[in-house]
Amino acid sequence: MTKRIFYTVFIVAIGVFFSSLILFITVLYEYFSGVQRDQLLIQTELAAQGVQNEGIKYLEGLSADHCRITWIGRDGIVLYDSASDIGEMENHFQREEVQDALAEGYGTGARYSSTLTERYFYSAKRLPDGTVLRLSAIQNSLFMLILGMLQPIGIIFLAMVAVSIILALRLSKNIVRPLNELNLDKPLENDGYDEFVPLLRRIDIQQREIKRQKGELKQMKNEFEVLTSSMAEGLILMNCSGTILSINHAAAKLFDTDRSCTGENILSLNRNQDLAGVLYRAKNGEPAETVMDFSYGRYQVDASPVSAGGKVSGIVLLLLDVTEKEKAEQMRREFTANVSHELKTPLHTISGSAELMAGGLVKPEDIAVFSERIYAESRRMIRLVEDIIKLSHLDEGASDMNWEKVDLYLLADETVKLLLPEAEKAEVTLELHGETTCIYGIRQLLQGIVYNLCDNAVKYNRRGGTVRVDIRKKDGFSVLSVADSGIGVSAEHQERIFERFYRVDKSHSKEIGGTGLGLSIVKHASKLHGAQIDIHSIPDSGTVITVRFP
Ligand code: ADP
Repeated sequence: MTKRIFYTVFIVAIGVFFSSLILFITVLYEYFSGVQRDQLLIQTELAAQGVQNEGIKYLEGLSADHCRITWIGRDGIVLYDSASDIGEMENHFQREEVQDALAEGYGTGARYSSTLTERYFYSAKRLPDGTVLRLSAIQNSLFMLILGMLQPIGIIFLAMVAVSIILALRLSKNIVRPLNELNLDKPLENDGYDEFVPLLRRIDIQQREIKRQKGELKQMKNEFEVLTSSMAEGLILMNCSGTILSINHAAAKLFDTDRSCTGENILSLNRNQDLAGVLYRAKNGEPAETVMDFSYGRYQVDASPVSAGGKVSGIVLLLLDVTEKEKAEQMRREFTANVSHELKTPLHTISGSAELMAGGLVKPEDIAVFSERIYAESRRMIRLVEDIIKLSHLDEGASDMNWEKVDLYLLADETVKLLLPEAEKAEVTLELHGETTCIYGIRQLLQGIVYNLCDNAVKYNRRGGTVRVDIRKKDGFSVLSVADSGIGVSAEHQERIFERFYRVDKSHSKEIGGTGLGLSIVKHASKLHGAQIDIHSIPDSGTVITVRFP
């Protein structure tokens, strides 16, 4: 802007200078021409007086340096000329000024020389004898005048350029200074030009609007960040070429990066083909999903296109942890298969035995054996179905069951009494030790825990073995421990015996009426009570299972 103002002022100054110069020279030229003409007229008058009185003698005695004097006869023949030989001069009768003088007594004329550089001015007067006296003077043309004044004009021009530059510089700086000093942060506090006031008011209004919108955007961004950072699901927003615009904490963790990866392409973080596939489909406006394995588990990846004005402008990637879901589905499938298998065997036995009996193929003395078999298998089926019901109830959270204060010792006492006949039958000594220990829990489930542990300790024991049930408080925990001197569990099975239908020795378990679900019920019921289970077992020596209630 300073430059523009400078050039404008400078050009205007130069323009004014040249216009003034031309005007001045023209006026000056006209003025001097007028003065010269007037003087020539006076001189003509005086010379005419002289010729009138003295004739040609007067002219011959005159030194005419500044003008040329010509005396012309009535017929136009030159009688005297101060500059040329009259013999060589042509007839002057037709000359404009001579004609005017002959007709009116006085005449003037002006003519340019052949080179146009000089102009001749003529003044003629008719004398009483009819002759004409003419005086002429050279007058320089305007062009010649300017040419002659070139040096002073050049000097004045240079001085004028220097002054113009200085003035233009100062002026442009002075004009621009208030603009440069404008405080746009506080537009209304400026003391600049009055013409700026509407502009500054507008800037002030716009600044306030921008401030308000910035605040709103910041707040929205913060809300979005808070919302997404507390999400367990991974969330990534990107443009349609896959450049990450926003990534939440969960997603950054999955892709083994941090939130500074904004601006990078998602495929530079993970080159998985399935991911590239869903992104390609989303880019083409089609929602797509896939399942991917990350180091933290298995995730469902949903890619949704974001459209604006009929064009895909971005992609939202949502990552959902499906590890547990898939595990649960797998477990459910296995469980269904196991249940069907477990039920099929006793049902076959029952239906086979009943078929034989119905067909009269069983000897009367064997009927008792067959009936016993049917009874035993149906008892096993009932136990199995009961255990399945208990487990599915536990899977659903047992929310309909009552939480109450339960004395573990009393509960164990009842259970031990219940199992005593069985223990006696197996020739196993069953003892209860400890003290009154109350916990807050679901009586039915706690009973299940104690019963299953004690039942196993008796079942997987040997003749003459012992089972010691201990209830006491230790280190702030209520501890139930069931120790037996039975067959024990080898290390590789110790973790797995808590799985559904897992048995170390399947045929032995079935033989003694096991369902393979007892310890699963113990595990789930303990989990529901926040209790921790530990197993310590030595094959052929015995097992100790401890449940620590908080
Ligand atoms: P089951 O109905 O077969 O007893 P459980 O879930 O109660 O089912 O137990 C699973 C398996 O763990 C049993 O089949 C058995 O092999 C083993 N087991 C459980 N308790 C004991 C124990 N006290 N001593 C030795 N093995 C045991």
